[in-house]
Amino acid sequence: MEQYQAYTGRQSMPENTDYCRFFLLNNSKVVPAAEALLWTSSDLPELTEILFPVGELRGKVIILAQVNDSYDGEIQEPREFLAQNSEAEAALYSHATQLLRAEKDHAFCGRCGSATTKLAAEWAMHCTSCEASYYPRISPCIIVLVKKGDELLLVQHQKHLRHNPVYTTIAGFMEPGETAEEAVYREVLEESGIKVKNIQYHFSQSWPFPHSLMLGFHADYESGEIVLEEKELSAGDWFRTDKLPEIPPSFTIARRLIDLAI
Ligand SMILES: [Zn+2]
Repeated sequence: MEQYQAYTGRQSMPENTDYCRFFLLNNSKVVPAAEALLWTSSDLPELTEILFPVGELRGKVIILAQVNDSYDGEIQEPREFLAQNSEAEAALYSHATQLLRAEKDHAFCGRCGSATTKLAAEWAMHCTSCEASYYPRISPCIIVLVKKGDELLLVQHQKHLRHNPVYTTIAGFMEPGETAEEAVYREVLEESGIKVKNIQYHFSQSWPFPHSLMLGFHADYESGEIVLEEKELSAGDWFRTDKLPEIPPSFTIARRLIDLAI
């Protein structure tokens, strides 16, 4: 499978961009080219702002570029983009949008308030007044599928009810000072009233909404009855693996954790 190779620091712009490809964004939305996702230098729309090289895909240097809100061509919503493209394109999207966001979020120094500038070789914004550097923020979250015999604990989130009323796994941000396993135990107990054991890590996924790193676990039921955290969850129950409700799409780590258990 072809991978996206993300540059781990800033690279200078190639002198000749004829052989490069351009990944075009409108904030967090994707602007696809007419017959392929990526644009060539000769067919970029007017008023495109060319930003910087971000990595390589299928032998081509990929340059990030953006259009402003006056652009009236086709634009793809992020989740639609992720559902329709391969893991390599998803990795490009996740990398590029998080770099772009980090530059906006750290345009001013959080310590002294001065305007920052880009460091020459690293993906960081630097304050020349107080020497603070700001790297792209990555926020670790745990996501866990709880198993009880041949049943799975699945929940519906209040915030997803309107757009996306699927049943999914429990997830939450880690707290400072916590291990990932402690976060799994705490989040499951807080959200569902269930105590778990045998917490086992499986895999992770970058989730660029806006900068999460999802750490995927399975855990076994130990004790307790379901008592939902009603501010966050609208429903939750044990489901037999052969009678599952509607679950998340295949590009999500929640779905991969469920598929691994059935
Ligand atoms: Zn500063």
